[in-house]
Amino acid sequence: MATVLCVLYDDPVNGYPEQFPRAGLPALERYPDGQSLPSPSAIDFTPGALLGSVSGELGLRGFLEAQGHELIVTSDKDGDDSEFDRHLADADVVISQPFWPAYLSAERIAKAPKLKLALTAGIGSDHVDLDAAIEHGVTVAEVTFCNSISVAEHVVMMILSLVRNYLPSHQWVLDGGWNIADCVSRSYDVEGMDVGTVAAGRIGLAVLRRLAPFDMRLHYTDRHRLPTEIEQELNLTYHDSAQAMVPHCDVVTINAPLHHETRNLFDDDLLATMRRGAYLVNTARGLIVDRDAVVRALQSGQLAGYAGDVWYPQPAPADHPWRTMPHHGMTPHISGSSLSAQARYAAGTREILEHFLDGTAIRDEYLIVDGGKLAGTGAHSYSARA
Ligand code: NDP
Repeated sequence: MATVLCVLYDDPVNGYPEQFPRAGLPALERYPDGQSLPSPSAIDFTPGALLGSVSGELGLRGFLEAQGHELIVTSDKDGDDSEFDRHLADADVVISQPFWPAYLSAERIAKAPKLKLALTAGIGSDHVDLDAAIEHGVTVAEVTFCNSISVAEHVVMMILSLVRNYLPSHQWVLDGGWNIADCVSRSYDVEGMDVGTVAAGRIGLAVLRRLAPFDMRLHYTDRHRLPTEIEQELNLTYHDSAQAMVPHCDVVTINAPLHHETRNLFDDDLLATMRRGAYLVNTARGLIVDRDAVVRALQSGQLAGYAGDVWYPQPAPADHPWRTMPHHGMTPHISGSSLSAQARYAAGTREILEHFLDGTAIRDEYLIVDGGKLAGTGAHSYSARA
């Protein structure tokens, strides 16, 4: 019998919804690159329901308990006396979502002698100390591609929203005003602007594809260059580093994982090389940018706007300076947790659990760490301590 410890975000403040705005979800056949959708043996949830909160339980309880396993679900994840910490010593599997991450630090991994699988219900396993997972033989897996398109849509929304000054204009409506000059004094078209993505993986490439019809000039940097056909199709300009790319961009979007190479990449020095009045959108991870350098750049006008949904820590404290900095369009970490995305990552989580519990191989593309080293997608996209 396995003990599965699952950390999920809280239910809505008014309780778990009795119904949802739409009856179901559009049926997808596969991901854009041909990868197949999650394929568990069955699902016990209704696609389109809220699965990522505590009462949603990722739709896992029936499946796990029918096989005699124990499922513990909690949102209480921070501090030594949290429910998460209290159950950690008995856990064979920890499931966590990046939106409400259970930080599996080296200290916590050391306190979890039975832990064999750290499963990210989503994408981005930086809340797990990957070096410690490697050292302790813990497998780290995530549901690769499950919410990449969800995030790409959010990025496009945020770019348009910042450049066109949507949120402050909406605020004038809520406030009863009709202040056109106030609204348009910071409003531009994206047409003709240069936009660059730091990383052109699943999300970064999807963002470029979605921005191409806006007649923006498209740039990217990545550790591996895209195939020539894609570069030609989208008329992409490749740069060999973020440092080389950002001086050429009006808009920069960050779509790389957080690891040794990307931590604190956007510091005062890099921000100073961006075009004055550039926009920065970060839905990747909060620690890829220097928190206070972003505030300074917005205050000085070096950045005209900053948006994203990723913070550090999460949940962000009430006094986090990004809540009150000028010209921002931040949301809580939601872009990858639409109801559409939840159905995919709940199914993918079950698929990974089925393989783990049966002792069969987890898909290579879901693996980040396995067998004491970076593996699968992790070997391609992450770096370990040298
Ligand atoms: P992918 O693995 O498809 O893409 C990641 C890309 O980043 C790869 O192309 C990788 O390069 C590239 N990369 C890694 N390190 C660097 C570097 N130092 N410089 C430039 N490029 C680099 O993942 P996704 O696109 O699906 O997701 C990307 C990240 O977005 C996730 O790791 C996660 O942090 C974040 N995310 C956020 C979500 C949200 O809700 N806000 C939801 C989902 C993801 P290569 O493989 O060529 O080496």
